Amino acid sequence: MNEEDSEQMALYLEQIGFSPVGSIREAQVVLLNTCSVRQKPEDKAFSLIGELRFLKERFPDTVIGVCGCMAQLRADEIRRRAPHVDFVVGTGNLAEIPALVSEALQGAQFASRIELPERKGAVVTHLPTRHVGRDGKLKAYVPIQYGCDKFCTFCIVPTTRGRERSRPTEEILDEVKRLADLGTKEICLLGQTVNSYGKNLMEGKVPFSELLVKVAEVPGIERIRFTSPYPRDFRRDLIEVIRDVPQVMEHVHMPLQAGSNTELARMKRLYTLESFGEIVEEIRSLIPKVGITTDLIVGFPDETEDEFQATLAAVNRFRFDWAFMFAYSPRPGTPAADWSGQIDEKTKKARLNELIDLQNSITKSVNESRVGDEYEVLVEGTSPRNTGMMQGYSREFTMMHFEAANERVGRLAKVRATSAKQWGLVGELI
Ligand code: SF4
Repeated sequence: MNEEDSEQMALYLEQIGFSPVGSIREAQVVLLNTCSVRQKPEDKAFSLIGELRFLKERFPDTVIGVCGCMAQLRADEIRRRAPHVDFVVGTGNLAEIPALVSEALQGAQFASRIELPERKGAVVTHLPTRHVGRDGKLKAYVPIQYGCDKFCTFCIVPTTRGRERSRPTEEILDEVKRLADLGTKEICLLGQTVNSYGKNLMEGKVPFSELLVKVAEVPGIERIRFTSPYPRDFRRDLIEVIRDVPQVMEHVHMPLQAGSNTELARMKRLYTLESFGEIVEEIRSLIPKVGITTDLIVGFPDETEDEFQATLAAVNRFRFDWAFMFAYSPRPGTPAADWSGQIDEKTKKARLNELIDLQNSITKSVNESRVGDEYEVLVEGTSPRNTGMMQGYSREFTMMHFEAANERVGRLAKVRATSAKQWGLVGELI
């Protein structure tokens, strides 16, 4: 979602005549996009904000703006600690960037715009037209929903991005058509709980599965992905669309977070291990080759050794293709951050390492079981880590490396897997 926000910021700057430059020293305007979902990116952002002071000293006319979730939460602190910053702008106020930049160029004092839409279910319309800077991009994100109504006890997103709001279906389809005209082949639909899309739309609820079908009908779009669905709302109609609509990829990234019902309840995740398991079974029974990936947190407050073991058992049971795994990071302003049962850093780190070792071994053996199979891959270009090889993702979202001529870039190819790696598969064109 942050990558997508950064693209929007660039588009707003282009609207008032700016274009990208090759280095920060040449820039008349520098926008730093931030994330507050964990402590580490916040620390990194503050360190970068500090470094920008030297830029401002050398080039006093450069406009510096800090944007995104952390700016939203810590505007006062940024103003106090970093007087060289001209403005901060939150996730709900990106449309104000052109005005803020113009004012700053005219010497205006520090400004902050961090208001979130108060109205639950407000509809997000009139995002900047997407074409600048995206020409010829093979893959593009398309946001369809902002904010979240779930309020998991560890998560800062409802505070920084506000309540759940959807974009009108027609606006999404217009954007997808424009992208297809510009050569985009693969679309990733974005939302915090993407499968609850549309529930507040004025023209009536459009189920997410129906939106996928409409996007698949846009000529030129060959692949559709989406992230992230919320497990409780993953229903049969969506599974059938993944199975039946060829443009929709057979990959589901569905965050489990923890493997015990007690911990899930403390997290205020609105499903149980059993109901999550039923969804996974249904998906796998209807789509046998599906790729399923997940997010997991260890060291959540009061996590007992038994609860941690239950997470390991769930990972063994579900055998995810891969997972994003994190040690819990308390986010000020969320309920869990104030609980007394915080787990010490040493235990969190040990649990995280154990979980990563287990998932890595599963990922490797899942990849090994795929050697010899054929996959459809969208050829993306030369692999940065394996020179001489092309790379691309399978429909199931496995990274694949293979030898191919440059002319293949941007086209679909059939690749047979010949060997397994931790990160994916090596193969050969068929
Ligand atoms: S559903 Fe996702 S975005 Fe929403 S509160 Fe929970 S973790 Fe955060």
